[in-house]
Amino acid sequence: MPTTTATKPENIIDGKAFAATVRQGVAKDVASLRSHHGITPGLAVVIVGEDPASQVYVRNKVKQTAEVGMYSVHHELPDTVTQAELVEKVRELNADPAVNGILVQLPLPAHIDEAAVIETIAPEKDVDGFHVVNSGLLATGGEGMVPCTPLGCLMMLKDRLVDLSGLKAIVVGRSNIVGKPMAQLLLDANCTVTIAHSRTRDLAAEVRAADIVVAAVGRAEMVKGDWIKDGATVIDVGINRVPAPERGEGKTRLVGDVEFGAAAEHADAITPVPGGVGPMTIAVLLKNAVTATCRQNGIDPDTL
Ligand code: NDP
Repeated sequence: MPTTTATKPENIIDGKAFAATVRQGVAKDVASLRSHHGITPGLAVVIVGEDPASQVYVRNKVKQTAEVGMYSVHHELPDTVTQAELVEKVRELNADPAVNGILVQLPLPAHIDEAAVIETIAPEKDVDGFHVVNSGLLATGGEGMVPCTPLGCLMMLKDRLVDLSGLKAIVVGRSNIVGKPMAQLLLDANCTVTIAHSRTRDLAAEVRAADIVVAAVGRAEMVKGDWIKDGATVIDVGINRVPAPERGEGKTRLVGDVEFGAAAEHADAITPVPGGVGPMTIAVLLKNAVTATCRQNGIDPDTL
């Protein structure tokens, strides 16, 4: 884990450890659903094509799904699959009572209409929370499925800060899968929220005003350490691979969107990359699958 001399270990938010705790909770809930209700939550993952990053991610999902005791289904389709075939596969999973959650791994090949595929997933089985019904429910305070990465970020923030009420938060990035739902969750937690993007005029000034900084841009270390207000909490969603000649010729390493070492000198708490937000995403996916199973069966998840 990257640290500087000024970085106190207690200021680093350990996403790996937090995710392990979330998975333990999920495994307990799965055991309780089985023993008290005779239900085994089922999570189906559909992957199209051979994208190596997606393959690794899906393998991890399938492994962790099995580890928490869920029924795991995995469909690998060739990148020649047609839109109609993919939609048909999703419809089959919608109708399968053993499947409580469906996840279609993105990105999809260019000839597939991604939005149309996502809209085919039954909203109550949409464990990624990308269906327009679920975005609408999040925006209007309803009970939908919430996208995993922003929900994981919120859980880490609440764990550190407990009450976010009245804090100034900035979300850098406005994608539908991270930035916008993150801003919505922070608003629901009573933060005063700024959403920054590529047209923001003075990003440094906006970040300097924030008690909470969530960076979800996809540009290596673009949020500078000296932009971070003393005592702020920083959540770095970005995953960027950069050259690392110090490790040998052609070697690379992962960095976030925040200049970690310099930011850690100002922040009270900060997530590293890797080992911060990344591990939380799959853990929250599993948690969402339990939530979906409970709702589909009229069970209050708090009673598990
Ligand atoms: P997108 O590319 O969809 O969105 C990036 C956002 O950053 C856009 O809103 C864009 O603004 C904004 N942006 C680009 N350049 C600037 C700039 N110079 N200043 C301010 N804002 C800028 O990315 P995602 O939201 O999908 O992902 C963001 C990062 O998070 C990526 O590194 C991705 O790999 C990572 N990620 C990590 C996950 C995890 O599990 N840890 C899960 C999901 C994503 P505009 O809208 O104006 O173009």
